[in-house]
Order: sequence, then C-alpha cells, then structure tokens
Amino acid sequence: MRARGWEVVERIRRGETLVFDGGYGTMLFAAGLANGACPELWNDTHADVVRGVHAGYFDAGSQIVETNTFGGTRLKLNEYKIGDRTRELNDKGARLARAAAPESGYIAGSIGPTSRLPVDYALDEGVTDEEYLDTFREQAEALAEGGVDLFAVETMMFPQECTAAVRACKAVADLPVMATMFFQYEEIHDRDRTMWGESPAEVAKNLVAAGADVVGMNCGRGPDRAIVIIREMRQATDAPLVAYPNAGLPITTGDTVTYELGPEAMARDYPALLDVGCNIVGACCGSNPEHIRRIAEIVSRRRPRK
Ligand SMILES: [Zn+2]
Repeated sequence: MRARGWEVVERIRRGETLVFDGGYGTMLFAAGLANGACPELWNDTHADVVRGVHAGYFDAGSQIVETNTFGGTRLKLNEYKIGDRTRELNDKGARLARAAAPESGYIAGSIGPTSRLPVDYALDEGVTDEEYLDTFREQAEALAEGGVDLFAVETMMFPQECTAAVRACKAVADLPVMATMFFQYEEIHDRDRTMWGESPAEVAKNLVAAGADVVGMNCGRGPDRAIVIIREMRQATDAPLVAYPNAGLPITTGDTVTYELGPEAMARDYPALLDVGCNIVGACCGSNPEHIRRIAEIVSRRRPRK
C-alpha cells in the first residue's frame, strides 16, 4: 500500500488547493526560546509548547503542518554540540506533530539548510555532495521513522545542497518531497534569484529533475514576490507548486523584529497567488495562526463544490 502522504499529490492533481502552516520561530520566541538557543532541542525539553504550536496551526485551517526540525541535520546540530542527538530530536519532532494532528492532517518533515557552504564556496573546508547526502539521509530516515507523511525541504540557498536533500529523502522512503528555495528580490533588475543566481524557472526544472514531487518558494520576501515567482515556475513545469512567503519584510526596532504584513494585509495577495497556479499555500517568518486562518478562508471560498 502506498503511504498516505501521496494523497497530497493526488488531491492537487484532482484540482484541490491545500493549506500549509505558518512560522515557528516567531511562536517559539514568544514562548521563551532564547536568541541563539537550539529550537529543535525544544522537541525534548518543551514538548508541550511545540505540540501547542502545531495544534494552533491545525485549528487555524492548516491541512499540512511541518515538524520543528528545520535545523535538524547533524551538521547543523553540531553547532550546538548535540549532533549525537540527531535521530532522537527528529524522531520526537515527527511524533509531536503527529500527536497534534487531526486524523485528516498531514505531517511534513521539515529539512532546512545545514548552514555550511558547498566546497567551492566555503572559506572553511566546505561540504562535499557526499557529506550533504549523508547528513540529510540521516535526518530523513529519523523523520520517516517518526511517521511523517511527506518531506518539506525548505529555505534552501544552494542548488547542490537542495538537490542533495531531495535525493536523500527519496533514498530513504517512498514519500512525497516538497522542495522550496529562498529567493532574493534584485531590485535593480526587478527579478527574483537564488543566492546562486538561478531563476524561478530554472529552480523548478532542476528540483523536479532531482525527484521533487512539489516545488516552489518559501521565506525570502512577501506574497507579492511569491506571485511573480510562482507564475514563472508555472510556465516552466506542470508539477504541483507550493508557496509560503514571509509576512512581508522584517522591521527591526532595537532588538525586536516584527514583519510588515498583518493577517489581513497578507491574505489580500493570496487570490492572485492561486490564480497564477499555486497548489499549496502557507506562510513563513512573521506569520502566526491568524495569518493562516485568513489564508485558509480564501482557499475554502475557492474550493470546488462537490
Ligand atoms: Zn521564513
């Protein structure tokens, strides 16, 4: 029998739009996570808080919620000297999200960048493709064991790191993989590019070629840029597309960071995001369950009647 996560892809193929979740950093900081502390450690030490964030997103209308494992590779956890807890923290992360999910909810195992640069770009010894593959494989395996329905490879800056993560997921489990990259808006050229200089169309083609089942963008800027990026991706591929942009630009006052778009203002761009062919929509940094509630309302108004 095929894993339940494949329903996500089938539902999109049938014309449905699905709602992803919102930001975690904002929520965890509000609950007391210290600046510079390891968020994944909270899967062990503050399980109730993490479970509460997941539940808040499901209540707000998310159909897919991701695990609190964004920095859960051994390469990243080594920064906190807890690389030896990689399996445990990912497994716990998956189980916490599952415990908060209604029967109809899907859990996506979050896999973010290692924060270590590829060999050709690093000032230190850098990371080889083989090492990327190993670290992502270890994380993906633990997430799959913990029971995720699909993977969310996200906020990736470098193509070789992103494709290694996609391949690692595919190597360990027969589950769908969503893969999204971080785009910068280059104001002088009025275009969106990855750190590497790839266009949205190139990213979409490359990630599909690497084996991703759903491709798109997350983080970066606000929904206004997501519309442009998804439109370009849609011209390049028939694959399911996902977007979960930030709540606009960050505004720093003293040592607090807020984001420019409230729930109402952010949701205003989502009808256009659906119009250009986006199949899964959510939000990233600076968003909370209220943002998702508004976005879910827009999606449900558009849901084809049975
Ligand atoms: Zn973000």
